[in-house]
Amino acid sequence: MPAYVRVIVDHSPDREFDYAVPDEFAADIAIGSRVRLPFREKETLGTVVGLLDESPHDGIRPITALVGKQNAVRPKLIELARWMADYYACPVEAAMRSVLPQVIRKADVGFRQQIAVERTRDLTTEELHSLQRKAPRQAEAYESVGNTPILLTELAKTSGIGEATIKALVEKGFLKTSLAIRQRDPNDGETFVHSGALTLSDDQIRVLASVIETLDTAGEKKPLLLHGVTGSGKTEIYLRAIQHTLDQGKSAIVLVPEISLTPQTTERFRERFNAAGHHIAVLHSHLSTGERHDEWHKIATGTARIVIGARSAVFAPAAELGLIVVDEEHETSYKQEESPRYQARDVAIVRAKLEGCAILLGTATPSLESYRNALSGKYQLLQLLQRIDDKKMPLIRVIDMREESRRNKGGNAILSEKLKTAIEARLEKREQTILFLNRRGYSTSLVCNACGHVVHCPNCSVPLTFHRAASRLNCHICGHIEVPPKHCPECRDPGIRHQGAGTEKIEETVAKIFPKAIVRRMDADAMTKKDAYRETLNAFRTGKIDILVGTQMIAKGLHFPNVTLVGIINADSALHLPDFRAGERTFQLLTQVAGRAGRGDVEGEVFVQSHTPFHPCIQFARHHDFAGFQEQELDFREKMDYPPYTHMVLLTIRSPHEMRASFSAETLARRLGESLPEGTILGQAAPAPMERLKGYFRFHIILRAHHILKTSRHIREVIGKLTFPEDVIVTTDIDPYQLL
Ligand code: ADP
Ligand code: ZN
Repeated sequence: MPAYVRVIVDHSPDREFDYAVPDEFAADIAIGSRVRLPFREKETLGTVVGLLDESPHDGIRPITALVGKQNAVRPKLIELARWMADYYACPVEAAMRSVLPQVIRKADVGFRQQIAVERTRDLTTEELHSLQRKAPRQAEAYESVGNTPILLTELAKTSGIGEATIKALVEKGFLKTSLAIRQRDPNDGETFVHSGALTLSDDQIRVLASVIETLDTAGEKKPLLLHGVTGSGKTEIYLRAIQHTLDQGKSAIVLVPEISLTPQTTERFRERFNAAGHHIAVLHSHLSTGERHDEWHKIATGTARIVIGARSAVFAPAAELGLIVVDEEHETSYKQEESPRYQARDVAIVRAKLEGCAILLGTATPSLESYRNALSGKYQLLQLLQRIDDKKMPLIRVIDMREESRRNKGGNAILSEKLKTAIEARLEKREQTILFLNRRGYSTSLVCNACGHVVHCPNCSVPLTFHRAASRLNCHICGHIEVPPKHCPECRDPGIRHQGAGTEKIEETVAKIFPKAIVRRMDADAMTKKDAYRETLNAFRTGKIDILVGTQMIAKGLHFPNVTLVGIINADSALHLPDFRAGERTFQLLTQVAGRAGRGDVEGEVFVQSHTPFHPCIQFARHHDFAGFQEQELDFREKMDYPPYTHMVLLTIRSPHEMRASFSAETLARRLGESLPEGTILGQAAPAPMERLKGYFRFHIILRAHHILKTSRHIREVIGKLTFPEDVIVTTDIDPYQLL
């Protein structure tokens, strides 16, 4: 039994501390236990990460309590947190914060809803009298509780007894609590038809066989990358793989991007598994504290052996983990944009390795990182290159918006004539249309209206960003600066300008052109309420909306048989972001959005409006040619030393004072350069494309590294030694996705 423990103290990022273990806790304490302890002047909580017979430190204080077992952290997850801290250059405490959600970290949460309480024993008359004298509320509470568990919430409702009173009685040993997992009516009143397994296609049989082989392999397993075109039946593969995992007595985690965590997605899983008596825990950002707490404990206790969730579900406390599925693995929303800046897909890969479980990444448009791993044999590639029942891929037509604008005498038409005609035809046939616009194109790159030319950096093959304040063009990667041209450098046309039109404007325009059509908009602004999303989707599915205008929200995983037309308003907006992934994102977006069309019996049609219709990424997407796309893109990345051939690191230096920020950035860049590890490419300090953000002046330093751990340690060391002015903030982003 350990005499001491090493603890990561909550909210104390600096280091780990040793505490003595009083005898009463020694038998139960373990790695992962949550403990209450004195820290500085306060009492706080921490997680045990080591058991020690002796400690090298003096003046060690004892822990004061052991928090309920059900709040403990699984040792594998502690290992995972340590890996995150090292890889992402963040304090291990910050990583622990991801692993153990806020609601569980607060030990007292154990006294929230869904906790039942019962007597440990019947008190003697004497004890009861003594209690009545000293603490009448407690005596009353004790008498209200019987020998069978009663929910705390019920107790509060019927006799107004609060948590504190119960807690005191538990501490005295008169009452004990237990988790009352609410046996959810399988689906909150909704009925689900058990969807019997479909007859698999030959392709699906082949792919599933490989997945099952991996599931049945003992020891470390190669990650699986399932490249399946939209509508090829990937979800059916996930469902079968999960079934196999359950049959093995193990549990499964399914990660999906937050925006595709729709009722449509979860219903498919419920249909399959609820009828067979399996519980599914769903984790997403709209859960209330109580719900989150509930779901977490359902997983931890093994009541729910299937977890579906967004990014943070990668830390779900599932025991006996057999399988992790990462759907839409290419999605950038797997990246957390605040500390710790982790990538859930990558964390999932590491967790699978630590747990020795299988991992299946699925997508219609693999990320180049994953695809390269498949090409090099690190991952096993599985392919479904046909739609189910050999349904045709939608026909994609690219519309040259330069011609449209010529015809409109230089005016910038939002809807081309061809797209208008196509929508009209759908309205007549009572078929539905989706119009897509990527609103992330707030960045203002310079595009020529006449010839489609985009102003690029001479060194970096990325579009230059227009900085309005300084009125100059700037390269985000290397720091190159130039004066914006007055005429297009290519065709001399003065119509060179920055792009921009939002979904709202589209909605308005479309409603004007088609006054009889029912038009609705679906984007982050219009969908602030969770129900708005569900309602709009339902209305669309039941045919109450003719034209749906939206952003990424409508691009993912939705399945509407009656949608026969998809219009992409501006294929170029993603293309001209100052980001080396611009091409990849455009290809992914076009493919995913196009994938929404023609999922029913009628063939689908897609119109892509573009000022650069011959751009390779648009052409590859048009021909459903992932093979061609990845070949060209990987070639470009390799030549430029971009990921996946290197790891990128983005340092952001910001301050309310421009001079201080720029001076600090330059100093940091110089210091980093002094003893740069081999295989590291250091860029210059340069203003960020979003130069000012929330009152801060921002500068970037970009590094590219062949050995990321060495480089990230070097960065941490250099930053640790420098003292920056007080109002300067430096953040480190390893494998960044947001380069603005
Ligand atoms: P993906 O996830 O690859 O886009 P889905 O799994 O959503 O594709 O499958 C597309 C459609 O085909 C769904 O409606 C699904 O129910 C159906 N489907 C999948 N597999 C089969 C099968 N073997 N037989 C018949 N229909 C299938
Ligand atoms: Zn450059």
